[in-house]
Amino acid sequence: MEQPIKRLPQTGVDKENIFKMMDEYRGKDADWRQARTWSLVYYLGEEHTAFIKEAYSRYFSENALNPMAFKSLKRFESEVVRMTSTMLSGDSRVVGTMTSCGTESCLLAVKTYRDLARARRPWIRKPEMVVPESVHVAWEKGAEYFDVKAVHAPLTRDFRVDVDAARKLINRNTVLIGASAPSYPHGMVDPIPELAALAQEKNLPLHVDSCLGGFLLPFVEKLGYPVTPFDFRVPGVTSISADVHKYGFGAKGASVILYRDMRTLRHQFFVYENWPGGIFISPALLGTRPGGAIAAAWAAMMAIGEGGYIDIARRIMDITRRLIDGINAIPEIYVLGDPPMSVFAYTSRSRDVNIYAVADQMEKKGWHIDRLHRPEALHAIVMPAHENISEQYLDDLRESVDIVKKNPELATKGGAAMYGMIAQVPLRGMVKSNVLKMMEDIYGPEAKLPEYDESEEQPTDVATRLAMGFLKIRNRFGK
Ligand SMILES: *Cc1c(COP(=O)(O)O)cnc(C)c1O
Repeated sequence: MEQPIKRLPQTGVDKENIFKMMDEYRGKDADWRQARTWSLVYYLGEEHTAFIKEAYSRYFSENALNPMAFKSLKRFESEVVRMTSTMLSGDSRVVGTMTSCGTESCLLAVKTYRDLARARRPWIRKPEMVVPESVHVAWEKGAEYFDVKAVHAPLTRDFRVDVDAARKLINRNTVLIGASAPSYPHGMVDPIPELAALAQEKNLPLHVDSCLGGFLLPFVEKLGYPVTPFDFRVPGVTSISADVHKYGFGAKGASVILYRDMRTLRHQFFVYENWPGGIFISPALLGTRPGGAIAAAWAAMMAIGEGGYIDIARRIMDITRRLIDGINAIPEIYVLGDPPMSVFAYTSRSRDVNIYAVADQMEKKGWHIDRLHRPEALHAIVMPAHENISEQYLDDLRESVDIVKKNPELATKGGAAMYGMIAQVPLRGMVKSNVLKMMEDIYGPEAKLPEYDESEEQPTDVATRLAMGFLKIRNRFGK
């Protein structure tokens, strides 16, 4: 593509050309169809995709902003909420709404419990929430947006939150405890029963962020794998979020947030009665709510059914066990913790093998690799589509580890140098301000995306390189 487009074309471009341009633009995109990615796209094959596209497009124009106007959409939403509640062992009092993504569900949990505390404990001036260090970054966003201070409880050696430490962080200003089932970075389920007991003892709500696992863990459990109780069976769990657009295999734009009863959900609602445009009600964050995503979520759940989700879980778990065993069989690397489902991170046993350099080698072999930090590790979310390529992944991984072991200088080159440097920067504020500068470039008039030259030995401009590497980590950490 020569020049970026800066103004509307004088006359409309013909449609065939537009599609050609779209295909050209996407030339360098991550190759999820060939199962080369380990995040971002939850894919169940062409047939299922065509089906949910059809369901989506039937409601392409409808808007769920007004539940009175499109009663069918309200019915889909209610049925998705009920089905999800039953799946997560909720009783008939459980209520909830659909949202557009896991982030929206987590943001709403923060807002809802802040407002619940405002109603019941109005003397709290500076609300706080206690969350594990491994909680999804959406919670940090919620903290910032809604002015609820996130107090981080450390993890134990098995990468689950330390309940005793969490207990010590609770104070008069605490309005909420958060936990994950499982966490995005390490795929571990926090000790929900112990946290729930703590929440009950302190008379605090507990939100379980099951955005990632909500549509998988129940079926993994049914298959007989050990799963820490995390859903409404645990007294003290007051709300749960689960993403239909992840392992529910709906279309993008669909998540669910559930509360044990209406006394809590009512604090999520927004009502404004004095607007010249009329009395306004809104159940969640968005204004216009795309009908397609709601319809496709409903259609996906109906088409797959419990039996289908169990089959999918079986396939995913078989692939995951093979991958985890294969990785642990490579002497130089190992999987962190003992992840109960299909999300895991792995790192190296010694400094001789730089794990980010291993990632660089894997990317040379055509894999899209997600990097974590604290500790430095590589990440994977397993899909059914990985069935046929997991052996290839393991072969490439063995080879990559070998190359890095024989060429330790690779740790000072390319991506590894950058990621390593970011991890070592003592002043996190410096990292943040540099990343902000980077964002100003990306979203500035020139829309400059960061690129770095693989062949370069060392970054030239430290600040820029720092920002680029870190931004990449954050990008990959986000989904
Ligand atoms: C993915 C995820 C989120 C955020 O969901 P989005 O749909 O990406 O906004 C929140 N929490 C957890 C545990 C997740 O895995």
